[in-house]
Amino acid sequence: MDTMIRAAIGYGFRAIGFSEHSYAPLQSSYCMPPEKTDDYFREIREARERYKGKIRVFGGFELDKDSELPDDRPDYIIASVHELMCGDINYPVDWSESIQRELAEVKYGGDMFSVWQEYYGEVVRHVERSRPDIIGHFDLITKYSLVDESDPGYMELAAGAAVRCMETCDTFELNTGAIARHLRTVPYPADFILRKIKEKGGRVIITSDCHFPDRMTCWFSEAEDYLGALGFRQDPHADLNEKVKDIEIWY
Ligand SMILES: [Zn+2]
Repeated sequence: MDTMIRAAIGYGFRAIGFSEHSYAPLQSSYCMPPEKTDDYFREIREARERYKGKIRVFGGFELDKDSELPDDRPDYIIASVHELMCGDINYPVDWSESIQRELAEVKYGGDMFSVWQEYYGEVVRHVERSRPDIIGHFDLITKYSLVDESDPGYMELAAGAAVRCMETCDTFELNTGAIARHLRTVPYPADFILRKIKEKGGRVIITSDCHFPDRMTCWFSEAEDYLGALGFRQDPHADLNEKVKDIEIWY
């Protein structure tokens, strides 16, 4: 935590938010175990005190669709879908291209479109259930470029899901994580989804989802031009919710 906070101060950030993966019973490999969750929020509280006057420190969750909702809401919740199920087998669709193909094969006879339909259905359900502050990497299913993002059927599916989500949550990540990992050259969500978000009055927060201090600002300056070209305007003193205030959000 100190390493990340010091890096953030070095980059000139006014605030930093930690968004550890919430505990979800099926994905224990990358999720925070329940017994560590109290420690995590205690460390955040301590860091907040330690860096008072230098940078503001927020503590949130990246909440998985199979995670229980916390009794006490943290400073913010990002709702993300990382995996789909087939029977009782879990397929983490952001793990590899072959996992996506295997899921399409075993569950839908190779039909990828059905995988995308299921993915966006889960995203909408998750957002409606967890009422997050931010929707995480909305079109993560495109990570390995198995999706033809110019396909009209796909575009309708994805943009339609974004509009459904916005009935519950109006703020989406502009997530540069796949660029930091050299998997994509553009952030999530795709530009046509961002246009729909803008058209419907939604908001965007730039995040790097980087996991490493040296990539914490990956594509941030490009993102400003990118969002500007799509018609978004920057509000450097916006409120995310009643706990996370005075941060940069694009609308
Ligand atoms: Zn994620």
